[in-house]
Amino acid sequence: MYICDCHCDTLTKLHEQGTSLYENDHHLDLRRLIANGGGLQFCAIYVPSEYRYQGGLRYALLLLDKYNRELADLSRRGIDCLPVLTRQDARDARRHQVATLLAVEEGGAVEGSLEALRIFYQLGVRCMTLTWSNRNDIADGVNDAITGGGLTAFGRQVVREMNRLGMIVDVSHIAPQGFWDVIELSEKPIMATHSDATAVCDVPRNLTDDQIRAIAANRGVIGINFASQFLAADPAEADIDSIYRHIDHMLALVGDDCVAFGSDYDGIKRPPRGAEGVEKFPAIIEYLLKKNIPPASVEKIAHLNVFRLLDEVL
Ligand SMILES: [Zn+2]
Repeated sequence: MYICDCHCDTLTKLHEQGTSLYENDHHLDLRRLIANGGGLQFCAIYVPSEYRYQGGLRYALLLLDKYNRELADLSRRGIDCLPVLTRQDARDARRHQVATLLAVEEGGAVEGSLEALRIFYQLGVRCMTLTWSNRNDIADGVNDAITGGGLTAFGRQVVREMNRLGMIVDVSHIAPQGFWDVIELSEKPIMATHSDATAVCDVPRNLTDDQIRAIAANRGVIGINFASQFLAADPAEADIDSIYRHIDHMLALVGDDCVAFGSDYDGIKRPPRGAEGVEKFPAIIEYLLKKNIPPASVEKIAHLNVFRLLDEVL
């Protein structure tokens, strides 16, 4: 089945190790993704937290350049990869072998500048995770939740400008107050590209039931994160069934319009048993169907929800 995956950190691995997006031995490459039947892969430019006040822009450009060089390599190999930039691209994506969507993870990448945000848009970025887990000049991340900080004045400008440009506002990693500020402020559906449910695994990176309801009411989308420590209280026990349990919880809570995948492949140290890499998506889909999630709901989770959001946001 065609899969939209809302988060991976593969670009970081490619940058650090000089490896290829088409074929590598990391969690994810496009060769395996195409073998699955194709998909739309969000590719995050993750800016390490130490650069969030200074140097973020330069670091982000290194990964952006790597992304562009990999797209050129794919075209040399004769691979039909569509970088999604417009609503029409999102509608056309499935006619291509594979599609990518460029994201920035860590709003410190724009270094406090709306001009830089707009330049990122021009360079093809269509989604930005406002914060990583630490505080930046947009909002507090979950590690700083104790101070109760929400969106800063600049953070509010960023959300408004992302809405205007047609960039997805991603609330994964943000502290609760900032989350609620975004819910109140955003005029477009938002995403939590890679977050699970607190009710199933109680860690700060996951979403409470109230947050899940708010994202559903906003017509937003939540990508289920495959990090073992977010899936299960005992990470050693995490497996495909843990992924299913988070999906099942969200379906019961808000229905089937807001759940998707956000694997976090190549950003997580220990994937769950049975979901070790992108090649396991068919097995995950098979498992969801075996657990009696209706095929129409599985199709929404696999790709329809993300395409619906892209149609509303881009
Ligand atoms: Zn992340």
